[in-house]
Amino acid sequence: MNRRKFLSFMGCGCGSLLLSSCTTAPITDRKQLKIVSEAKLNAQAAKIYEKIKEKEKMSDDKKKLNEIKEIGKRMENSISEYFYQAGLEDPTIYFDWEYILIDRKKVRNAWCMPGGKIAVYTGLLKVTKNIHGLSTVMGHEIAHAVARHSVERASQAMTLNLGTAVADIFLGGAINRARNTVGQNTGLDIFQLGIMNPFGRKQETEADYLGLIFSSLAGYDIRESINLWRRMSEKNKGKEPPVFLSTHPSSKKRIENLKNWLTEIITKYPPIKV
Ligand SMILES: [Zn+2]
Repeated sequence: MNRRKFLSFMGCGCGSLLLSSCTTAPITDRKQLKIVSEAKLNAQAAKIYEKIKEKEKMSDDKKKLNEIKEIGKRMENSISEYFYQAGLEDPTIYFDWEYILIDRKKVRNAWCMPGGKIAVYTGLLKVTKNIHGLSTVMGHEIAHAVARHSVERASQAMTLNLGTAVADIFLGGAINRARNTVGQNTGLDIFQLGIMNPFGRKQETEADYLGLIFSSLAGYDIRESINLWRRMSEKNKGKEPPVFLSTHPSSKKRIENLKNWLTEIITKYPPIKV
């Protein structure tokens, strides 16, 4: 799928509303509304991240954590190098990347907060199985941050003047579910702070697309993404999908998308020399 097709497929969430506050997502050029300050959101996220580190049990599996950091480092460098070579502004310039592995065997989840604060739960590693599978998930989560989806989400919420309760009804309780992944036992109201709002379908699809690009640039085998999402859907069979998947496209649709993108991405975004 070429970029134009991708764009028409994604549509534009901004419309004519506050056009001057519009920005575009990197690579896909999808229009985004941005009235909330990125710096402010990153700073809030960093604070919450510290709290999470205090309250959650960190895994003592140093080997696995190093593997996560290694994938992350390669992705960080590849992303910066890609935008540098393309003569574009590096969207991660104000990021302060950090990685933690949270010891929760039942949580098949990972996230990346605005500004590059990343967490992987030990339960996810049973599904990712190898570095390529793990890079698929990390690429997806990192893509949410690189494309500033939280800034966009917070901006949309402000424009619509939604209170938390109303927004939650709107999103079918998705906020409560999102709160639970991170907020459980931490007593933090993630939504009120504007961090980690559940993402919309368009953002999820964009994160899949950009995530594959970042994985490929970093030198990982993105064909494994198909196997990964098959394993994930197998794990979730007959059960309520984990929060991680709740606003994501269905596994079938997602795998179909990935298959459509694979060849183009492998050709257009080969491993980048840093
Ligand atoms: Zn996502």
